[in-house]
This record gives sequence, C-alpha cells and structure tokens, in this order.
Amino acid sequence: MVDAKGRIVIPGLVDGHAHLYDPAFTYREDFTSGTSAGAAGGVTTVVDMVLTTPVDTPDRVREKIVAGRRSSIIDFSLHAGMMNLNNLTNIPEIAELGVRSFKTFTCKPYFADDHTLMSLMRETSTNHSILDVHAEDEDVANENFQKLQAEGRKDPMAHAEWKPNLAEEVAVKKLIKFAREIGARIHISHLSTHEAVEAVRKAKREGVKITAETCPHYLTFTRKDMKKQGPYLKMNPSLKGSRDVDALWRELRNGAVDIVTSEHAPGTRAEKEPGWKDIWKAWGGVPAIETMLPILLSEGVNKHRITLSTLQRVCCENPARIFGFYPRKGVIREESDADLVIVDLRARRKVKAADLHQKVGWTPYEDWVLKGWPVLTMRRGTILYKDNEVLIKPGTAEFQTMNL
Ligand SMILES: [Zn+2]
Repeated sequence: MVDAKGRIVIPGLVDGHAHLYDPAFTYREDFTSGTSAGAAGGVTTVVDMVLTTPVDTPDRVREKIVAGRRSSIIDFSLHAGMMNLNNLTNIPEIAELGVRSFKTFTCKPYFADDHTLMSLMRETSTNHSILDVHAEDEDVANENFQKLQAEGRKDPMAHAEWKPNLAEEVAVKKLIKFAREIGARIHISHLSTHEAVEAVRKAKREGVKITAETCPHYLTFTRKDMKKQGPYLKMNPSLKGSRDVDALWRELRNGAVDIVTSEHAPGTRAEKEPGWKDIWKAWGGVPAIETMLPILLSEGVNKHRITLSTLQRVCCENPARIFGFYPRKGVIREESDADLVIVDLRARRKVKAADLHQKVGWTPYEDWVLKGWPVLTMRRGTILYKDNEVLIKPGTAEFQTMNL
C-alpha cells in the first residue's frame, strides 16, 4: 500500500461474477462496454458469468474466449454453464481449456435436482474444478409462488416474498452436506441472508471446501428500498432485511464471506418498467461493475464497516485465489501483473448514470454521494482509465486460465 498524497494504490479488482451478455444480448451490455465500465471501476480482471445463453461445450467456451480477446478491455475468464446431466460429460474437456468453474442452480429456471447436484460435484471434483451454485430452494420458493399466484400478487414486493430467507438457508445447508460427503469444492453465488452466512461460517470451521460471495446491492439495500425503486431493484436472490445486511458486512470482516462480486446484470429501462404493474414481467438484475469499488470505499471503508485491507482481501486477493489467478492477479508483487488502481479515499462525488460507461443508462445509486473513488486503473502496465476517461481500445485483453 503506497500513500500518494491521500491517494492509495491497491491491486486491480478481480470481479468473479459479472454478466457481460456478449454476443447474445448486446443491447444490454457487451464485452467492450461492460469491461470499460469495469476499468472505470478499478476492475482489471472479470470472470464472465453465463446466463441465458449456454456456455456448456468446448466450442462455446472457445467462442467466448475469442469474443473476449477481440472485445474486452480488461483481462477475463469464464464460468461454464448452466450445467446439468446432459452436458456433464463436457466438464473434462472444458476444464482442459482452463475454465474450471461450473455454474448450476438449485431452483428454476436452471433447476438441478439432488442427483444432478451430486453428479456435478463428483465430476467437478475429479477435474480440479469448482461447482458454483445459485442457492435458493425450489420447493420453498414454489410453495410461496402458489400462494402469491392465488392472491393475484404482482406488486414489486411479491417477488421479494417469493424466495424468503428460508429458501437460501435450505439450499445452502443441503449443498454443504453434499459437498462434505463428496469432498467437492463449492462456491455459493451472491449470498443474501444471515442464516446462510452462518451456515457457511460453520461449514468452513468443520473443514468443508466452501467459499461464498456477496454483492454490493446486498450490502447497501433492503426490501424497503423497493418501495421507491420498485422493479429497478428486482434481482435474484431478492433483497432482504437490515439484519442480513449487517451479517454480510460482519462476515466480510470475519471471513465467512470470502469475496464481493459485482453480479453485474443490467437490464434496460424498457425491461424494468413493466414491473411497476406486474413485477413478474420485469428483468431481474442491476448494473454494478462500475459502482462496486466506490460503494465499498464509501459505504465500507469510509464508514468503518471494513478496512482497506479487508477490501483488498475480498475484492482482489481472495477472488484471485478462489478462481486460480493468484499470484498473477489480486496482489501487488514483483512476479504479479502490474494491475493497479489508484484510489482517492477523500474524493467525494455524486453518482450519475450519465457519467458511467455501462450501456443501460441507469443505476440504483443515482444521486448517492460517495466518498472514495478510483482515479486511475492500470492493467499489465497499461493505463486503461484516468480522470473519468477510458483510454484504451479493445484487443489487448488476455484470457486467464484457472489454475486450480
Ligand atoms: Zn449472476
């Protein structure tokens, strides 16, 4: 850590979970726009997360790598998915390509039943890979869904009630039991509840190979904020309560929650607006990659919820370790890539969607005054971003293999 007149140098952030949508939904985001936003937010490596377009065969993985090399601004890697019994046999060959994180769900729309989950854990384990799981229990959700349907509920809060804390707790506890039994390495995406955080903490103490992430939105918003922002705060998992927010900050400090990822999943206004009348019709997800670091500097470091060294651990070092980029990424050392961010902890600025580099033109943090901003981002010695401007054209990004 070098203090340069109130400015501090930290390693470039490694964002372990962002949806860049390229090439299927480029009206929302593409490699160039999403990684420009990343660079402006101090992110120098991103792991693109599969969503509606499968990345579940070696060919699809190769296509994504080509797209990233062509269009990304920052270094990148990929999660493969959505995994199920049909594409499970592709795991060895995909792992050979250096993609060693495989995504699955315990709920719809990519529901994997228990047999599938255990089979996937065996296969990822054999291939020195991670099973990355969206953990909300389908049966718990479904019971609520029936009730909400019967009542004709379409208001924004109905979506939040659909998958309560219990859904995450049940799913995470089941996954822990399976991972322990099989000896598999699992990673829980976007933790949002204090119950699940507690379960992960306990599992770690007992030696289960589990890591977990949370995201800026689960650290900054609660359900109450949906009253004002409605469908713009629709996301999966949904927002929870203040007790959950407190537990997430606490366990970033204490280590049960290993990393913060952006879970950048922007939808356009046109995809959000219908949700005021019928929340089930709105896109679920928020833009987050560019605001992640300023949010953590402002709401975390400057408000003394976490230290700057915790921020570096959860945004740089731990994601690099979990996904196999360490020590090339995530740390400032002689043998590491020169991925650096200069942050000004005293800079105070209002968030304006118009200033951001993402495509969708809105942010849930509009008009928030944040204290602590990145002022310069460097990737492998090249300055990508300085003084509010992205300075580089795509074409120099490197694909990062996961060395696990
Ligand atoms: Zn996601």
